[in-house]
Amino acid sequence: MKYTLRAKLSLSYMLVVLISVFLTSVLTNLLLEKHFKEYVIKNQERKSKEIVSLISQQYKPGGRWNTDVIENIGMNALEQGMIIKVVDSSGKAIWDAMVYNRGLCHRMLEHMACNMTSRYPNWKGGYVEDKYPVTYNLSEVGRVEIGYYGPYYFNDNDLAFINTLNRLFIGVGMISLLSSLFIAAFMSKRLSTPISRVIEAAHKISKGYYQDRITEKSGIKEISQLTQTINDLAEVLEKQEMLRKRLTADVAHELRTPLATLQSHMEAMIDGVWEPDIDRIKSCHEEIVRISRLVGDLEKLAKYESESLILNKTRFDVSQLIRHIIRNFEIDFINKGLDIEFNGQEEIVFADKDKISQVIINLLSNALKYTPEGGRVEVKVESSGDVVNIIVKDTGEGISPEDLPYIFERFYRADKSRNRLTGGAGIGLTIAKAIVEAHKGTIRVNSRINEGTEFIVSLPKQVG
Ligand code: ADP
Repeated sequence: MKYTLRAKLSLSYMLVVLISVFLTSVLTNLLLEKHFKEYVIKNQERKSKEIVSLISQQYKPGGRWNTDVIENIGMNALEQGMIIKVVDSSGKAIWDAMVYNRGLCHRMLEHMACNMTSRYPNWKGGYVEDKYPVTYNLSEVGRVEIGYYGPYYFNDNDLAFINTLNRLFIGVGMISLLSSLFIAAFMSKRLSTPISRVIEAAHKISKGYYQDRITEKSGIKEISQLTQTINDLAEVLEKQEMLRKRLTADVAHELRTPLATLQSHMEAMIDGVWEPDIDRIKSCHEEIVRISRLVGDLEKLAKYESESLILNKTRFDVSQLIRHIIRNFEIDFINKGLDIEFNGQEEIVFADKDKISQVIINLLSNALKYTPEGGRVEVKVESSGDVVNIIVKDTGEGISPEDLPYIFERFYRADKSRNRLTGGAGIGLTIAKAIVEAHKGTIRVNSRINEGTEFIVSLPKQVG
C-alpha cells in the first residue's frame, strides 16, 4: 500500500505525539497514585494521633472522663470515616460510636468501600482497627480504638481531588493531541507542497513542457536544492529545445537557396534549355561547395554550442595569445594591403585557451574580410577592474544600424547579396558569443557604416 508523503508525515508525527502523550499520562498517573496513597496514609495517621491526643485531654484525675467532648470528637471523626471507641483501664466502654449510632457507622464504612471500589473496581478492603493507649502522668488510664475501612481509604474530598486531577490530565492530553494534529497537518503540508510542485514540474518536463518553473520557496535546504535543480534542468532543456528548433529552421532556410538553384540549373540542362557548358557546370559546382561549407559550419556550430559549456580553463596571458594569433594572420593582412597593430600588457585570465583563440580568430578574420585594401586593424588588451577587455577595431565597411542588433544571430549576414563563397555562413560571431558567454563574459559591438567596426570582448579575470 502506498501513502502520500503528506499522509505519511502526518501519521508519523501523530504517532510520535500519541506515544509521548500516552507514556507521559501513564507515568504521571502512576507517580500521582503512589504519592497520593502515601499522603492519605500519613494523613490518616496524623488524624488518628490528633484524635487520641484530644481524647487524652478529656481524662480527669480520679477516673472521670468528659464524655460530652469525647462524643463531639467521636462524631466529628465519624464524619471523616473513623469509628471511635474509648475504654478505661478496666476495659469498660466510656464512649462507643457503634453503640451511639450503629446505623451511621455502617453507612460510613459502606460509603468508604464504595469510594474505593468506584476508583479501583477490584479493590479488596475491609474493616481495620488501630488501638492507642491513653496515658495520664505516665500511667495508662485507658485506650482509644479507631476503626476504619482499610488498609486506607479515600474520603469524598480525596476522591474529588484525584478525579479533578485525572480530568485535568485527560484535558491536557486532548489539547496536546489536537494541537499535534493541527501541527502535523501544517508541517506535512509545508513539506509536501513544494515536493508536489517538483513532481508536477518534472511531469510537465517529461511531457515536453519546459516553460514551467517552481516558484514556491522552502525553508528546508534539501527541498530548496531540489526545486533549484528541477528549475535548472527545465531551463537547460528549454534552451536545448529552442536551439534544436531554430537550427532545423535555419538549416532548412540555408539549404533551400543553393538546392533550388542547383535544381533549376539541372532541370534546364536536362530539358535542353541550357547547354551543359563549363560555366554552367562551374556554377552548379559553386552551389555544391556552398552546401559543403554550410555543412562544415554547421558541424562547427554544433560543436561549440554543445561544448561551450565544458570549459577547460587554465591561467594564461591573453596578450601573448593574441600576439601569437596575429603572427599567423600577418601574411593574409599584408597580402590584402592592410595594417595590423597590437597594444597590450601582460593580462592573466583564467579561461579556456583554445576557445578564446577561436573568438580572436573569428574577430580577426571578420576584420580581414570586411576591411578594404589600405585599411587598418588595431587589437588592444586593457584591464578594467575585474575584467580584461579585448578590443578588435577596423576601418572597414562597417555595419548598418538595422543589422547591428542581429549580427550575433546564427546565419545572419549583413550583406545578403554577398557571395557566400567569399563571405561566411554567418556563424563566426554566434560561435564567438557562445564562447564568451560560457566564460561569463560579454561581447559588444560599435560600428558606423563606411567608418569601421569595433568589437569589445570582456572576460572576467577570475585570478586567484
Ligand atoms: P560571417 O561568416 O558571415 O562573417 P559572422 O557571424 O562572423 O558571419 O558575422 C555576421 C555578419 O556580421 C557578417 O556577415 C557581416 O555582415 C557582419 N560583420 C561581422 N564582422 C564585421 C566587421 N568587422 N565589419 C563589418 N561587418 C562585419
